[in-house]
Amino acid sequence: MSEGYKYKRVLLKLSGEALAGDAGYGIDPKVVEDLAVQIKDIVKDGVELAVVVGGGNIFRGMAASAEGMERAQADYIGMLATVMNALALQDAFERHGVYSRVQSAINMQEVSEPYIRRRAIRHLEKGRVVILAAGTGNPYFTTDTTAALRACEIDAECLLKATKVDGVYDSDPRTNPDARKFDKISYLDVLSMGLNVMDSTATSLCMDNDLPMIVFDLTVPGNIAKALKGENVGTTVQ
Ligand code: UDP
Repeated sequence: MSEGYKYKRVLLKLSGEALAGDAGYGIDPKVVEDLAVQIKDIVKDGVELAVVVGGGNIFRGMAASAEGMERAQADYIGMLATVMNALALQDAFERHGVYSRVQSAINMQEVSEPYIRRRAIRHLEKGRVVILAAGTGNPYFTTDTTAALRACEIDAECLLKATKVDGVYDSDPRTNPDARKFDKISYLDVLSMGLNVMDSTATSLCMDNDLPMIVFDLTVPGNIAKALKGENVGTTVQ
């Protein structure tokens, strides 16, 4: 492994919103290309990378259920949306020479492997990026919870949460110009202050399993590598 990296095995959580770019919907090819370029370098340097991808750029179960759709059915549609994102990511990764495997929590043998923890770890050891799709496979969960769960399962040293803002603030920086950014914050404070970082299930899982998380802005090129090298690119939650 190249010098300078603080973490050897990490889990990167990509929200659907991050993949949508400025359009706010669907998959922005430029975002996916940029991501593939960044990830290629990191993997070449010996970092073992698993990715959990969201689906909010295509479908959100909760929003559909608020419009009257049955919640579990809506959530399954949301999980299927994450599979589309996973396949788009895999396409970009492979075109850039990054070997990858998609593992889905809902069996879809024509396009992905099933999620098998030990096999995922084996892929990582061989330098393949593992893209984890379909969330946990269960309705009423989120892909943030999936990221926390899978990070624990594969023994990741850190959860990287890629967003469109550069960290955790005490209020929304998009609406409040006086919002204050934290360099570091505890999971307990995130929960007690009701900060909108992740849902409480995901936050509790990270806290209970001592999994550190770095929240950072994916739109700044090179930020993933900087976060992995321990540079202060966002907020560390621990
Ligand atoms: N989802 C689910 N179970 C899971 C993960 C996701 O039911 O374990 C559904 C849920 O409907 C959610 C959608 O998939 O709204 C997309 O995931 P998420 O909202 O977490 O995506 P992101 O916000 O990261 O784009």
